[in-house]
Amino acid sequence: MALGNGHPVDSPVPFGDPAGGKLPVDYLIAGSMVLTLDPQGTAYRDGAVATRGDVILAVGPAREIEARVAPRRRIDGSGKLVIPGLINAHSHMAMAPMRGITHDVPGVIYSIMWPVEASLREEDIYDLAMLGVVESLRAGTTCLVDHYFFMEEIARACQDAGIRAVLGHTVMSSDGPFTGEDQLRAAFDFVERWHGRSPLITPWFAPHAPDTVRPEWLREMAAASGRSGAGIHLHLAQTEREVEVVRSRYGRTPVEQLAECGILGPSTLAAHCIYLTESDIDLLAQSGTTAVFCPTVHANTGKVCRAAHLMRRGVRVGLGSDCASNNDDMNMLEEIRMAVAVQNTIEGHPGALTAGQALRMATTVNAAAIGQADRLGSIKPGYQADLVLLDIRKARWTPLINAEANLVYCGSESDIEMVFVAGVLVVENGRVTTVEEDEVVRRGAAACQRIFDRAGRAMPRFRNLPATVFADGPQGVFSTDFF
Ligand SMILES: [Zn+2]
Repeated sequence: MALGNGHPVDSPVPFGDPAGGKLPVDYLIAGSMVLTLDPQGTAYRDGAVATRGDVILAVGPAREIEARVAPRRRIDGSGKLVIPGLINAHSHMAMAPMRGITHDVPGVIYSIMWPVEASLREEDIYDLAMLGVVESLRAGTTCLVDHYFFMEEIARACQDAGIRAVLGHTVMSSDGPFTGEDQLRAAFDFVERWHGRSPLITPWFAPHAPDTVRPEWLREMAAASGRSGAGIHLHLAQTEREVEVVRSRYGRTPVEQLAECGILGPSTLAAHCIYLTESDIDLLAQSGTTAVFCPTVHANTGKVCRAAHLMRRGVRVGLGSDCASNNDDMNMLEEIRMAVAVQNTIEGHPGALTAGQALRMATTVNAAAIGQADRLGSIKPGYQADLVLLDIRKARWTPLINAEANLVYCGSESDIEMVFVAGVLVVENGRVTTVEEDEVVRRGAAACQRIFDRAGRAMPRFRNLPATVFADGPQGVFSTDFF
């Protein structure tokens, strides 16, 4: 039986206790299949992973690990699969109000998203973000790369629920819902305030896009990124309108505009990268910029990042879910599968993007894209204990000939039983342990209701959006003010 690309390894466990006693550890997952996703693709059929504090202490054959450790809690891994926590390289976790209302509408960013976002208030954001955090954790995402407005509230939600995150306060100088100079200051304040403050939160800069941020602000953030080491997360070449605006204002492509403003580089993560010239692709490759492919959103909107082509041309390409507008969920197992299907479709043959490549985009590649390849993305001793345990004793997983292929093509959120972030068990029996899920859903729905009430009052045309007609009355899930 082949386990993915991997091969069993029987080298000694890389730790020991000279006194002959057993080494105390916090968790031992024993007897599970393990896909480490290390560079060699090492996999174990009867494996074990031991954690202590926030790190992985050992991974290897179960009999060797178990003989050497004394766990505070032993988890029976039989019939289970352990993989590294998934990393979502582009999200807006607080965008739940857009769920289900944007499809079949052209130019949704301009016609729905920004007008609704104008009704956001700071007091809504924590509850909205928590919906995205809970959804992500349950789907095996242990690290989110996110940017949005009111980022302070989003960082609080991440910290409270115990998810890892790379966060930036979105900056726009025109067109969007919040565009003043105060937004630029808020972005700088956020990076300063969260630098070194929490082991889970990494603050970044987040200019919105080349067409919505004036060049002086882009240069200011590029310079600050260079000084502080904080990375940059933005949208790039997402819509035809963006390309037209940048061309008419600056006489360049969006990628050339970013190059001109000093934004491109190995610490920059550029979501979408759909409308690119061949020389744009050269600029991305030469600068080491990461492009982030968001397959579900791209497929739903009919315009796709040519991820496989970019990769052949030397561009690092990560994977993200984007937001509840046009996706509408945040499920990285789904994105991994969609990534393969979409790339094979546009290239016209199977193997344009393989299961193994797509799985690594959501783990090791995304880890490298956020500058954390030495601590995230693989199961290795010394790496952060960000782990996902799936129940694979199921019809859907039978037979198990190639574990990576089964994970990519058959794996489901409903298989996920446990999730660890930094050694903390944040999902157990498929439920989040750190917050009360029912309360999160109740409060999140109430926040959406408030936003729809405000948006509906301000923009009566939104009442004409198509919505479900419920047999038991005219009122949908949310107020008829909005619909
Ligand atoms: Zn986005």
